[in-house]
Amino acid sequence: MPASLAEDRRPPRESAEPFEPVLGLEVHAQLLTESKIFCGCSTRFGALPNHHTCPVCLGLPGVLPVLNRRVVEFAIRAGLALGCEIRETSVWSRKNYFYPDLPKGYQISQYDLPLCERGRLTLPSGKTVRVRRIHLEEDAGKNVHAADGGDSLVDFNRAGVPLIEIVSEPDLCSAQEASDYLKTLRAIVMYLGINDGNLEEGSLRCDANVSVRRAGATELGVRTELKNMNSFRFLRQAIDYEIRRQVALLSSGRRVVQETRTFDPVQGETRPMRSKEEAHDYRYFPEPDLPPLVVARAWVDRIAGELPELPAARLDRYVGLGVGRAEAQILVDERALADLFDRTLGRYADAGRLAKRFANELQATLREAGLGLAEQKATPEGIGRLLALVDAGELSGAAMKEVLAEMVRTGEDPDAIAARKGLRQLSDEGPTEAAVDAVLARCPEEVARYRAGKKQLVGFFVGQVMKELEGRGNPGVIGKLLAKKLG
Ligand code: ADP
Ligand code: MG
Ligand code: ZN
Repeated sequence: MPASLAEDRRPPRESAEPFEPVLGLEVHAQLLTESKIFCGCSTRFGALPNHHTCPVCLGLPGVLPVLNRRVVEFAIRAGLALGCEIRETSVWSRKNYFYPDLPKGYQISQYDLPLCERGRLTLPSGKTVRVRRIHLEEDAGKNVHAADGGDSLVDFNRAGVPLIEIVSEPDLCSAQEASDYLKTLRAIVMYLGINDGNLEEGSLRCDANVSVRRAGATELGVRTELKNMNSFRFLRQAIDYEIRRQVALLSSGRRVVQETRTFDPVQGETRPMRSKEEAHDYRYFPEPDLPPLVVARAWVDRIAGELPELPAARLDRYVGLGVGRAEAQILVDERALADLFDRTLGRYADAGRLAKRFANELQATLREAGLGLAEQKATPEGIGRLLALVDAGELSGAAMKEVLAEMVRTGEDPDAIAARKGLRQLSDEGPTEAAVDAVLARCPEEVARYRAGKKQLVGFFVGQVMKELEGRGNPGVIGKLLAKKLG
């Protein structure tokens, strides 16, 4: 076993040495165009293997790529949203490597003259991370390995699906910051309507470059590149592990080897995939089958004029409406949640309160029901009405959760659900007063002790009246009646 592998099995240990991590992220985002980047095949996910293919995306000889205009528009949207300069004439390059899922033996990409450069992204903390470049390229197919270690198959449906790669400068300095960066970027591409933000299915993928250096040093340390992190949690775990591993190496006088590593979520550790020596020499050269990509200034200006409201602007708008910053951040991180919030604003006046319900109860209810925002059925009218019922004291907090759980599944109106389930609180004084009287008559001893000064007994009385009303009493009304009758 090579020495580096043996070292890697040792559990990384925390060190007292003052090291600082440096991170840069490379993010691939599949673009939500109908058809592929260089042919008319569908990009839809989940089709039968190799059903969305043609001679172009299968790399058969004698065919030529034709660029999909929409792909360029989507990439420009991303570039503008991240404050990049949009290059008027960018160039396609061939990136050569051999792998079974790459039928041509090369990937058409952009290399030295990418479409977008020199942008920036602001994290929720206020820190600005520089974006080095955004370039266009085509995705590869997918190798499917049989679980029993037998046959390997290849599916070319993904071959030729358009991607943008967004490369940051090494400006990040913790796992949390890297995760915030990816979350912010994810929200932006989703607001732009160019990516579905699905890390698990791999339509948004992230490689993290990680190095550490002695605090205060100006030169960058040797980095490793982490692959295969399909959730925010795995991204943070992998980076934290890798930082500890590198610090342990350096503080014991050893070196970090530049290599690509993969994260194993089961063991919670990173493992070497290939070293620098094994790295591909891509032999980039200009793609002879495609002319340089020229984008007219007027087109870029038109796209800029059509950009939607982006997460940062929406966050400011919410804060301006009286929403707390923490809730506003939770809302804007998920475009579908923010959109539903916007549509519900007209149905419920108190934006701050509404945001709290969205950030807490609605999110929790959806999580428990295992429903995504796209599938859930509660309407803006229904949610507005539900909260009005709570404000009016007709539904308790517990009853609201029960009704909401039903609403997200069925879309039924909250009044109907509350009536059917008998959840309406008794806010009428009549029946509540009868219950209070019954309880006080039944407990003369406690009444006497209360009047003698043991005021904490009020909780006991409220509980008894609640029981009498089978849990449907309104605590406010009960309290008022008790005070009147005992006082
Ligand atoms: P490559 O394309 O070969 O992976 P690049 O130099 O283009 O290499 O860098 C890719 C990413 O790695 C960028 O996001 C960059 O910020 C980051 N990066 C480069 N060097 C380091 C380093 N020493 N430590 C951390 N991140 C780095
Ligand atoms: Mg890289
Ligand atoms: Zn095709």
